[in-house]
Amino acid sequence: MKDQEIRERETVVIIGSGPAAWTAAIYAARAQMEPFVFEGAGSRTMIPGGQLMFTTDVENYPGFKAGVMGPDLMVEMKEQALSFGTRSVWEDIVDIDSGQYPFKLRSNTGTEVFANSLILATGANARWLGLENEERLAQSGGGVSACAVCDGALPHFRNNTLAVIGGGDSAMEDALYLTKFAKQVILIHRRDEFRASKIMSDRVLAHDKIRVEWNKVVTEVIGEETIIALRLNDTLSGEESELEVGGMFVAIGHTPNTGFLNGIVELKDNGYIRTPTAWRTETSVPGIFAAGDVMDDFFRQAVTAAGTGCMAALEAERWLAHGSVSEEAD
Ligand code: NAP
Repeated sequence: MKDQEIRERETVVIIGSGPAAWTAAIYAARAQMEPFVFEGAGSRTMIPGGQLMFTTDVENYPGFKAGVMGPDLMVEMKEQALSFGTRSVWEDIVDIDSGQYPFKLRSNTGTEVFANSLILATGANARWLGLENEERLAQSGGGVSACAVCDGALPHFRNNTLAVIGGGDSAMEDALYLTKFAKQVILIHRRDEFRASKIMSDRVLAHDKIRVEWNKVVTEVIGEETIIALRLNDTLSGEESELEVGGMFVAIGHTPNTGFLNGIVELKDNGYIRTPTAWRTETSVPGIFAAGDVMDDFFRQAVTAAGTGCMAALEAERWLAHGSVSEEAD
């Protein structure tokens, strides 16, 4: 679906369609940079709009006292960006030649464009267990989530028994966070020791609302409209069991969407884009900026993604005007 025509050479091209991308577009459009957004072509696990398209109520995005549905928030952000003259298309960028300037980009449908500056905002995908009912119930708001901070406070999780899957710091953090609302939190881990830091593990193990199921993997998510139980398999004995739960939070890590970059910008050891200067979004390649979850392995919130999208647009504007992003604020 083409919304509006692309030019042979664009001032700023934004890749992505989550809060970082649309906020960058809003700022760039208002700065007369006439941004063009490649929203992504969509796949089975990711659709234009990003991770918020898989969320139901968002209650921690400022400005929405009564909360807002994730997909509605993304529609609003996109419409705001389009209202200022942003153009966009549902295509993936599959190749970037950063060895020439302007940068040359090619999309999955063969669209070619030259870009004076580029903002990478392709986000990250939460990893899922890959079970049939898991994705369905996550999309329908049926009690399965990959974001405890986003969804944990929703009414149907309160005073319920909630499962958290994983053994890293995210799982520890999620389990501790959920104790605020849950009757009990059951942490399910596939091994007999956590990967998480000692301090976080100790906190979890000392918490009287958290119980750990060691050496267990989830083999089935049970429930029609909402989750009611999990089928577990003991990795040592092979024994099957059923665990009644009112919610499941998957915390087994995220994968940043950087595959299409083919190494043109420097990545951190964990695969996220490196932005070498603190409080800046410029990557290792001058003129290419990164915003949102593709560069943020720490906060991963819609509001922080939007914040870095704003930063990237302001930096791109300044870079195009001065050839560098000055250290000093004007
Ligand atoms: P992580 O450290 O990669 O841990 C992922 C966990 O999920 C591991 O325990 C892993 O099990 C488990 N896992 C992976 N795939 C699985 C599967 N298919 N089925 C069942 N379990 C599976 O990821 P993370 O916890 O998201 O942390 C990512 C990074 O962010 C880390 O560097 C972490 O320290 C950091 N972080 C820090 C904080 C903090 O400091 N407050 C909070 C959150 C994250 P195995 O252990 O068996 O591999």
